[in-house]
Amino acid sequence: MPNNAPTIEAYRRVAPRGTVDFLLRLSERVRGRRFLHVNSTRSGGGVAEILYRLVPLMNDLAIKADWEVIEGDAEFFATTKAFHNALQGTEQVITEAMLEHYLEVNRASAARLRLEGDLVMIHDPQPAPLVEARPAEGKWVWRCHIDLSAPQRRVWAFLRQSVVKYDAAVFSLPAFAQRLPIPQFVVHPSIDPLSEKNRSLSRKEIHRCLDRLGVPTDKPILLQVSRFDRFKDPVGVINSYRVVKRYHDVRLVLAGGGATDDPEGARVLSEVREAAGRDPDILVLDLPPDAHRQINALQRAASIVIQKSTREGFGLTVAEAMWKGKPVIGGATGGITSQILYGVTGYTVNSVEGAAYRIRYLLSNPGLMQRMGEAGREHVRQNFLITHHLRDYLSLLVHLTS
Ligand code: UDP
Repeated sequence: MPNNAPTIEAYRRVAPRGTVDFLLRLSERVRGRRFLHVNSTRSGGGVAEILYRLVPLMNDLAIKADWEVIEGDAEFFATTKAFHNALQGTEQVITEAMLEHYLEVNRASAARLRLEGDLVMIHDPQPAPLVEARPAEGKWVWRCHIDLSAPQRRVWAFLRQSVVKYDAAVFSLPAFAQRLPIPQFVVHPSIDPLSEKNRSLSRKEIHRCLDRLGVPTDKPILLQVSRFDRFKDPVGVINSYRVVKRYHDVRLVLAGGGATDDPEGARVLSEVREAAGRDPDILVLDLPPDAHRQINALQRAASIVIQKSTREGFGLTVAEAMWKGKPVIGGATGGITSQILYGVTGYTVNSVEGAAYRIRYLLSNPGLMQRMGEAGREHVRQNFLITHHLRDYLSLLVHLTS
């Protein structure tokens, strides 16, 4: 848990008016209930990022919230990464032996963890089969964070056998909903404006961070922050930058790191390094999982933030950048389309050329960049702050357990 665990009162100065009072009223109806979250990693990626802040805030609202993590070996995470790729639409080979091991690891986790709660929320496919071991009491919800708009059918059919045993499913966007015999809800993910990743930083702090990272600030910075994952299209970002570079003297920073449940990162990182070649204006930063302040500083120092994903469950990095007043150019996919207001807070694009065109357009219009950044911050304040998320989860708790 964060040692600077946030209290709900602190959000009065950032969230829209009335939000905190509303949360206090809502939480009165579910005080003392146990709300357990289970996922597959404590660090790296958006789900861990959210739970790390959301769980202590729920406790501050007198909900007994807890967070458990399943444990797996390399073979398990290779399988679940293949699942992840298949569910987001890339054809994969998944053998019977892989499926059996996946179920076995879940059985072992079920035996080890205390899976009790008035509401148990299981995040993503990795721990989905835990539902086989659900106790008689309590409601179970499967919370899916990935882009399920076009899954490989066989893999979804397999996972679905677990999903139908839940009381409800929660998706990040309506487009990800499936044909299921259980109720489905939509909850947008969120960012925490008071976390180390998003709190305001002084100029001095920003410069100190960039200095330590070896990122000069003498040229406009184009930035993409993401795990080294092919769906984030880091090589496409490099190709867009190369087109832009013919017209504008900019620097590209690709900042990322791994997640303990993502075994492909190292391979993708070396592909990215190879694509970057010897260009001194491309900086590829492999950051540790706790580099929150560094990412905050990079996002604040950037002129334009890019998230050129080809598939994206939500894309917290988009909201993070908008909160810092930056225009964002993102792949027209998944949650990115629901965050970027086209032509207002940034642009969604479908190709390397499209991204390059929009980057050039913005670099030539500094006033527009500024206005888009301001609009982006307000859009996040209204829709994608952790307080909004908390409201949705508390409503679910009220709805399912009353
Ligand atoms: N992130 C990070 N370090 C990295 C790469 C990403 O802390 O090296 C953070 C990023 O700031 C964001 C989250 O991890 O908060 C990624 O969430 P997103 O929804 O963008 O993508 P996911 O990794 O969940 O697919």
